[in-house]
Amino acid sequence: MKTLRLILGDQLNQNHSWFSNKDENIIYVLMEMMQEQEYVTHHIQKICCYFAAMEGFSDFLKSNSHRVNYMKLDDEENHQKLEDNLNSLIKKFEIEKFEYILPDEYRLDEQLKKYCNTLSIDSDYIDSEHFLNSRNSVQELFAQKKSFLMETFYRKMRKDHKILMDGEEPIGGKWNFDAENRKKYDGKVSVPDELIYNNNLSSQKKRIDKMKVNYFGNIEEEKVNHPINRAQGLMALNHFCEKLLPHFGTYEDAMTEKFSILFHSRISFALNTKMIHPKEVISAVTSAWENNLPTITIAQVEGFVRQVIGWREYMRGIYWAKMPEFANLNYFNHQAKLPDWFWTGKTKMNCLHHCISNSLDNAYAHHIQRLMVIGNFCLLTEINPNEVDEWYLGVYIDAIEWVEITNTRGMSQFADGGIVGTKPYISSANYIDKMSDYCKNCHYDKKLKTGELACPFNSLYWDFYHRNRESKLRLNQRVSMMFNLLEKMDKNELKEMLDHANSIKKNIEIL
Ligand code: FAD
Ligand code: SF4
Repeated sequence: MKTLRLILGDQLNQNHSWFSNKDENIIYVLMEMMQEQEYVTHHIQKICCYFAAMEGFSDFLKSNSHRVNYMKLDDEENHQKLEDNLNSLIKKFEIEKFEYILPDEYRLDEQLKKYCNTLSIDSDYIDSEHFLNSRNSVQELFAQKKSFLMETFYRKMRKDHKILMDGEEPIGGKWNFDAENRKKYDGKVSVPDELIYNNNLSSQKKRIDKMKVNYFGNIEEEKVNHPINRAQGLMALNHFCEKLLPHFGTYEDAMTEKFSILFHSRISFALNTKMIHPKEVISAVTSAWENNLPTITIAQVEGFVRQVIGWREYMRGIYWAKMPEFANLNYFNHQAKLPDWFWTGKTKMNCLHHCISNSLDNAYAHHIQRLMVIGNFCLLTEINPNEVDEWYLGVYIDAIEWVEITNTRGMSQFADGGIVGTKPYISSANYIDKMSDYCKNCHYDKKLKTGELACPFNSLYWDFYHRNRESKLRLNQRVSMMFNLLEKMDKNELKEMLDHANSIKKNIEIL
């Protein structure tokens, strides 16, 4: 039977069972389409890397004697919409069956389901074979419970997959080494040179410009520094295991003006496009630890494993349990607009200047920059979660809705009212100063709460608790201590702070 098999841009898994047999009657199709450039405005590096990775994957299949049809964005035959392109290919190749790999995005999942209903030929789908869990794992695990605790999920994952376990007990005697991790970077440990790929993506950029795709962010198109094929993804993984893992956990939450990546792995694009598999990531990391005891401590490796088999799999579970409703949640009813400087990085707030500029230059920021600087600011200034989501979904190289929206709308904006996290992740200048060196060179004063030079985070922080105390957070035990402090605060001091916070929100464009 002549079969057309669709491979989406984030389904570049060389080891998928589809490719274990060669069959002349199977045609694989990969398509660059305007539809994927228009649902949100993306960072230019993200679009170039996707196209380059897809082209590389098509070459891999061809070199392994598979039949492949690769449609470039500027091909004359490209109708720019999934259904139209598939229809014309089905006609052209006289296809008798259509097959696809289950998408990870709700939007595409719905689109493909609907499309298959319109077909007069047979259709079928297959699992992506990428994750350690089924799509509905979180829902199944927490059936009949109102809240979904990541910690419960993570411990079950460790036990089920026998990762860092000694029988039924966690290796090291603890599930969590946070107390030993999360230190400020003091410069005493040297940071290894960044892994450089220097990928030349000018041909991709040329056709993106030719087709007038709307994009943002910066690019040096002859030296793009993200892994665009499996070999480079594995290079990133090896570099991490050899050079970065020994200090990963310790400096996981640290931020510094001097190094934007510090000890983070930068494997998220390779992982999310499925060029590398989470199981091989875990296996490489735990082997590196076993072979380098005691240089690499359990605290470093546990911190990393938690992200990959804990947070990553959990976010996917939450996504499928809660979509499509999740995409419209706005617990605090925030309605403000993102300031224009989110697209330039030009702000006097040094922490935001660094984190946003880094995101615009590299399509990357590490977790704490995303959560405790940029996300923290958005939540405190009451930005509409739709705007926040759109920015995050566009700017980061690794942003695909299933893992972006759960982190942004859920973890960072608490717009889900506490599905992902048990309390809002917010802070004053105190935390940012504790974890970074940003405050030293800032126009604003981290200690001041009011006045022209006061750090905006300080008054905004108390304004947030004051505003939401009665209406939204009254029953949340995890923040009750803050309400006690608020209660004890001098009334005049509080009023001054609330007035200052309001003026900051009004003047957000010129901060
Ligand atoms: P490392 O710090 O080296 O961590 C290793 C891997 O663990 C990552 O590659 C990633 O696959 C996984 N991981 C770590 N934290 C998380 C998490 N919270 N959720 C899911 N996986 C995690 N990650 C994305 O992949 N895509 C996104 O669009 C995305 N958006 C985010 C938005 C916000 C507001 C926040 C707070 C976090 C977001 N994250 C997202 C999670 C995390 O910030 C990135 O996975 C990480 O920064 C990628 O860099 P790395 O590969 O160097 O990660
Ligand atoms: Fe950021 Fe405030 Fe510190 Fe400036 S003083 S870097 S605005 S936290």
